Amino acid sequence: MEEWKRLVRDTVNTPEKLAAVFDVDLEEIRRIHKVFPIRINPYYLSLIEKPGDPIWKQVVPDSRELVRTGFEEDDPLGEEDDSHVLNVTHRYPDRALFYVNYMCPIYCRFCTRKRKVGDPDSIPDNNMESGLQYLREHPEIRDVIISGGDPLMLTDRRIDYIVGGIRAIEHIEIIRIGSRVPVTLPQRITPELCAILKKYHPLYINTHFNHPREVTPETTKACGMLADAGIPLGNQCVLLAGVNDDPAVMVELMKKLLQIRVKPYYIYQADLVYGTDHFRTSIKKGLEIVAALRGHISGLGVPHYVVDAPGGGGKIALIPNPIVSFDDKEITLKNYEGNVYSYPSTPFYDEDW
Ligand SMILES: *Cc1c(COP(=O)(O)O)cnc(C)c1O
Ligand code: SF4
Repeated sequence: MEEWKRLVRDTVNTPEKLAAVFDVDLEEIRRIHKVFPIRINPYYLSLIEKPGDPIWKQVVPDSRELVRTGFEEDDPLGEEDDSHVLNVTHRYPDRALFYVNYMCPIYCRFCTRKRKVGDPDSIPDNNMESGLQYLREHPEIRDVIISGGDPLMLTDRRIDYIVGGIRAIEHIEIIRIGSRVPVTLPQRITPELCAILKKYHPLYINTHFNHPREVTPETTKACGMLADAGIPLGNQCVLLAGVNDDPAVMVELMKKLLQIRVKPYYIYQADLVYGTDHFRTSIKKGLEIVAALRGHISGLGVPHYVVDAPGGGGKIALIPNPIVSFDDKEITLKNYEGNVYSYPSTPFYDEDW
């Protein structure tokens, strides 16, 4: 059996199995498990050093998940309203999200699709064809993002069928895969999988590292194999209280990602999802983190900090405001050290001269 399949088989996916490895309140875990599934594979589990650490918090259920704050929703981004067939969300004219499965190597406690992951009814396996048909019938779509669950949890054959099916559509220019597998089950990145993926360029993968401790020899190897297959790698992380809401942690994460050939792409402000409120941080903290990155590390390592507008408005980028004053003549700006500079806001050259 391949190593990754063994890791999937030996996964911790019940309250009883969790209680066998950690000292947790079994009754409490059972209550949470009735609402939100549990999944921690032995590799990701091995990264936990002690209860409550940044790896633990991402995967071990917390009683605060069942607290209703009144503001959260099950589908805060209106992904289902923008779905024309069950497994495609088509919000931006030229891009579509294509959900191909419901399984992930771990179930993250902060997941935006928390009510869907792990639920076989949410993304039925047998309707890939209706999604592909939707993509074929919409020539305005030029960029398809394959999502889930985690698409790289599928078998090589299934991945070949889906990515190949999309690549066969003439108007689709680029294909992206959104996957946490390089982080949470790096053993899944095999030479065979890379050989399949590289047939379908231009193909991009956006992965999801949240903490520098997730950068290990295993993830380094997996990302190197994908990069060697010609796949540009990006990272989309989520700002999470107690995990990475600290400028020093984020600076270290972004530097480490560049070293393993992953380009930081987005930092997401956590969505208003039921069961995740205890992870949400202030916008102020997010802006402070961006300020700690910009100018202090390679520009390559500075992602966009985005809020996904509730109800399906799309992503909106936030930056610490560098404008001190601005009129037709001059703009005055503050740099990363807080020094102030003025720059002419319109060109000097004039056709009437
Ligand atoms: C994030 C997202 C995309 C892709 O957005 P980019 O900014 O191009 O990465 C496309 N569709 C939906 C519904 C999204 O949420
Ligand atoms: S891997 Fe991604 S989709 Fe799966 S549970 Fe984690 S955040 Fe959600």
